[in-house]
Amino acid sequence: MSNRILKVAISVPLSHAFDYLPAKSGPEALAGSRVLVPFGRKQQVGLVLDQADGTSLPADKVRRCTRTLDDQPLLSADDLWLIRFTSDYYHHPVGEVVASALPALLRQGKALNPVLRFVAITDAGASADIDSLAKRAPRQAELLELLIDAGGNGVDEDSLTDLVPTWRRAAKGLFEKGYAQRFEAVADAPEPPHVQNAEPGPDLNPDQRAALKRIRSGSGFGVYLLDGVTGSGKTEVYLQLIGDVLDAGRQVLILVPEIGLTPQLVTRLTRRLGIAPAVMHSGLTDSARLAAWRDARSGAARLLVGTRSAVFTPVPDLGLIVIDEEHDHSFKQQEGLRYSARDLAIARGKRRDVPVVLGSATPTLEVLQHCRSGNFTRLELPGRAGGARPPRFGLVDLGRAPASDGLSEPLLRAIREHLDHDGQVLIFLNRRGFAPTLICSACGHVAECNRCDSRMTVHARDRALRCHHCGAERPLDEHCTACGAGVRPLGEGTERLEDALRGHFPERSIQRIDSDSMQRRGAIHEALEIAAEGSADILVGTQMLSKGHHFPKLTLVGIVNADQGLFGTDFRSAERMAQSIIQVAGRAGRESRQGEVLIQTAFPGNPFWQHLIEGGYPRIAADALAEREETRWPPFTWLALLRSAAHGKQDAHTLLDVARRHIEDLQTEFLRVLGPVDAPMARKAGRYRAQLLIQSSDRRRLHEVLAELRPALENDPVARKVRWSIDVDPIELF
Ligand code: ADP
Ligand code: ZN
Repeated sequence: MSNRILKVAISVPLSHAFDYLPAKSGPEALAGSRVLVPFGRKQQVGLVLDQADGTSLPADKVRRCTRTLDDQPLLSADDLWLIRFTSDYYHHPVGEVVASALPALLRQGKALNPVLRFVAITDAGASADIDSLAKRAPRQAELLELLIDAGGNGVDEDSLTDLVPTWRRAAKGLFEKGYAQRFEAVADAPEPPHVQNAEPGPDLNPDQRAALKRIRSGSGFGVYLLDGVTGSGKTEVYLQLIGDVLDAGRQVLILVPEIGLTPQLVTRLTRRLGIAPAVMHSGLTDSARLAAWRDARSGAARLLVGTRSAVFTPVPDLGLIVIDEEHDHSFKQQEGLRYSARDLAIARGKRRDVPVVLGSATPTLEVLQHCRSGNFTRLELPGRAGGARPPRFGLVDLGRAPASDGLSEPLLRAIREHLDHDGQVLIFLNRRGFAPTLICSACGHVAECNRCDSRMTVHARDRALRCHHCGAERPLDEHCTACGAGVRPLGEGTERLEDALRGHFPERSIQRIDSDSMQRRGAIHEALEIAAEGSADILVGTQMLSKGHHFPKLTLVGIVNADQGLFGTDFRSAERMAQSIIQVAGRAGRESRQGEVLIQTAFPGNPFWQHLIEGGYPRIAADALAEREETRWPPFTWLALLRSAAHGKQDAHTLLDVARRHIEDLQTEFLRVLGPVDAPMARKAGRYRAQLLIQSSDRRRLHEVLAELRPALENDPVARKVRWSIDVDPIELF
């Protein structure tokens, strides 16, 4: 046993790894193995990152690992590289990166391979007198016979439960008599699946063929953007590429947005490729998640489809990465380790020298700019694959046609007309609940959250007021808490729209789809199936409706309130609004009939609408890129946002003052430091929040500064009173 020093990552908010001596016995803890270590007064699971010859700690301070948890390293050198890269790039403690990268059960120290429990016959059992046992205990005799037939290897408990549901009681009797025994064994790794009955796809159209040819002609790493509206046939191109890679005996990693991970896609992959993908998303049980991770790692799973965190899964024979709906915000984790799964996937593709294919109808400006500068290759799929025409856009001027309960006369007329012609209608409003505000009719007092600087949302179904920022809830006020007069809900959310639509169209079936109506596991998939079949006439909902679903009968999309995007506080507001309108609009008119999109706005003269209607997303993106270049915002500069939150307002600011001084002490020629300022919502969940924005035209320099800043802040006494984080490439500035 070597006496080298192990560099161990432990899930604590400190940047460095910890030094330990190897365990006294057991397998050698190579890099990538988990170890159980004493940490403070507890035992913690850690991951060996490296071995070293020495330590800077005094010899008597170096503790010894309790034991090594893996016989073989759990993670390969490539997997460890990704962990280090993530930790370095996002300036996040490496132990917490490991915790994000591993499935929960592995993080807790459970074995990689499932341990199966078996029941088997003993020698005494084999020579027992079954007939006499059958007279006294027929169940035991029955089980004994079964175990004799099974022989020395026994039967695993799950199979026993299938064969004899009540076996446990009978087995107890056999154990007591010494006729049977239990033992545990590690399950064998599954064999890679055989490809069977892959269905052929449609003949590709010329644009698809050109895109495919271009990607196939590349060798090794390259990032390709498939830029095409929903229905333009991007998935068909992925399918061909995936087929190539599987035929070459390599594995494919497919990342999809959280809500977009539909059984529709999994079914399509299975049908067309002839193998079922391993699937990873947040709805899985811990053991199902571990099973998918294990199968990807062993190579048994050739195809892995997952949401954000699947980017960390070991995929030893990686041949291709696909990121569908590249623009989707769920690829960026917004708490803890604030990583972008898209960006990490690209880094991984580069390291492994494999192509990365991004798909979107509304690519982010970051990706578009990489295409312009030649780093990425943009491949357009301009038409709809089935030949359907793009939808027709129209504006409703709310100044001239005011809305009641969110719905204007022209929109109601259009709904009626489409329903009369056997169409399906989607009404989009990105705000759940009944109304965003409860106001007193007499004094104008507004119900606010006690813990946040925000208003309470009225939820009429549950007769509750809820804060959408911290989750606080209280019963709906009957009267104004300030003056006792009557109160009324102001503005509208999806619940109110649903009620209003039921009033206008009592004979129609209406389906509301938002996170309130879809709380039950699986509810969203059922609702979307119903919606896709066309048996709901009107769909009303939030952006849950705008992602990746095929609604063949849909002909009208109504956008209730589009004006937030025009005057949003974030420099990304317009880009975002255009993305969600185009994404929702993409649901309309996918098959034979041309779709229509009606947008309600109080500012019909704003050039944004003209550009969107005439030039679509490419025009909005070009406008926004020009503006960002001029104002020096990303993708033309790089940002990091330092956030802090504390019970005392001053503490939140003090830490950021410290940070600012540190940055100023370093060379700051290429940096601009904005703040500290209160966060746009200064109080949330009872904590005061402040932020400091660091902007640079030199990405490398920005990272050098952050690398020095992180440990300095960790060691600052104020940091203990404050929750703080560094968000590299933030997508929300609050
Ligand atoms: P996207 O991924 O861009 O939304 P899909 O690949 O899902 O588009 O294609 C949309 C629909 O058009 C699917 O039903 C698909 O089977 C069909 N389709 C795609 N390409 C073709 C083609 N070349 N010929 C006929 N149908 C196609
Ligand atoms: Zn709140």
